[in-house]
Amino acid sequence: MNPLSQRVINMQESATIAMAQKARDLKAKGVDVISLSIGEPDFKTPVHIQQAAKEAIDSQEYFGYPPVPGYPDFREVIANKFREENNIDCSAANIVVSTGAKQSIANIMMSMMDPGDEVIVLSPYWVSYIDVIKVAEGVPVYVKGSIDDNFKASAAQIEAAITDKTKMMIFSSPCNPSGEVFTREEIDSIVSVLERHKDIYVVSDEIYEHINFTGEHVSIGSYASIKDRVITVNGVAKAFAMTGWRIGYICAPVEIARACTKIQGQFTSAANGIAQRAAMAALKADLSSTKAMRDEYFERRQMVYDLLQQIPGLRTVMPDGAFYFLPEVSSFFGKSAGDWQVNNASDLCMYLLEEARVSVVTGEAFGVPECFRLSYAASRDDLKEALKRIAEALAKLQ
Ligand code: PMP
Repeated sequence: MNPLSQRVINMQESATIAMAQKARDLKAKGVDVISLSIGEPDFKTPVHIQQAAKEAIDSQEYFGYPPVPGYPDFREVIANKFREENNIDCSAANIVVSTGAKQSIANIMMSMMDPGDEVIVLSPYWVSYIDVIKVAEGVPVYVKGSIDDNFKASAAQIEAAITDKTKMMIFSSPCNPSGEVFTREEIDSIVSVLERHKDIYVVSDEIYEHINFTGEHVSIGSYASIKDRVITVNGVAKAFAMTGWRIGYICAPVEIARACTKIQGQFTSAANGIAQRAAMAALKADLSSTKAMRDEYFERRQMVYDLLQQIPGLRTVMPDGAFYFLPEVSSFFGKSAGDWQVNNASDLCMYLLEEARVSVVTGEAFGVPECFRLSYAASRDDLKEALKRIAEALAKLQ
């Protein structure tokens, strides 16, 4: 008998994690691979946050099971952050803390989906949305933004995808993988659509909120007309270089927050107590270290853009946020070099891993099979070297 469930057999492995693991395996064999595949800040967690974790240990107070939705004072701090930074009307009762924003999203899907419910997914999309929706027996409905519109789907496209089964729409701005930021006007138009369709919920993944070069982050949960139907997801991983601490959180209508707490109470219980104290310090302090990281990403973005522009055959949009580029690479499909035949973006990524020793992720994983995703959350030296190697390897494809 097959030991595995149909559920897991049908599930895709996360392409970003798989590629990062391939790069690690090659590195372990002594191959000098530059990994631009995973969305992970290359900075250390700021010292004041590390210090808060040490103090939490020394206090001896945070070794037991925390309350399932998070420590009450941390939830107050998060609610305060949402009110002050995002203009979202909420209190601690709306907040649930989880083991990363990834778990937050899984909790939401498990709490809200019934079999056959449709979720409008703005594409390109973050890899994990799709499999989490499917595990929860929802049906993803893709609304694709074209490269000519900076990968941003329009309100009209969204409206055209709505059916009587539509339960929710999920999107992220700044977006992983495109790096694009929806402007206030674009969000106004999306909100107008949602005002006409009163049964649709919105999951707004704002984990890249602080890595935004437009000067304005707009939270869809701040619109009074739809605020009772918005679940905002955020976390400390990207803004505070805390990927390994695993703290994410949501602001949701109370009924949904309670449901997420119920799911989490059965699956994992509360997020790690010491990590919650560290994340609380992150949210309480000023954002100077976050801004310093953002300034560095800003410089790197320009550097990488200039280098990508010099590579023939790539089409690159300048992203407004996050730390990714999503070059269009279809001009290489059908080409070959030695034993390598490149027919699609996955082939191209494998070729780049082996030939250039640079790991990037196929756009197939994000709903853009004509692209690959490159993370520039890496040192400038690594980025320069990686882009040089990519250019050389691509030049060999005939
Ligand atoms: N949403 C998006 C768009 C992401 O890129 C990521 C991390 N790659 C997450 C959620 C998950 O974040 P966390 O590390 O807090 O689980």
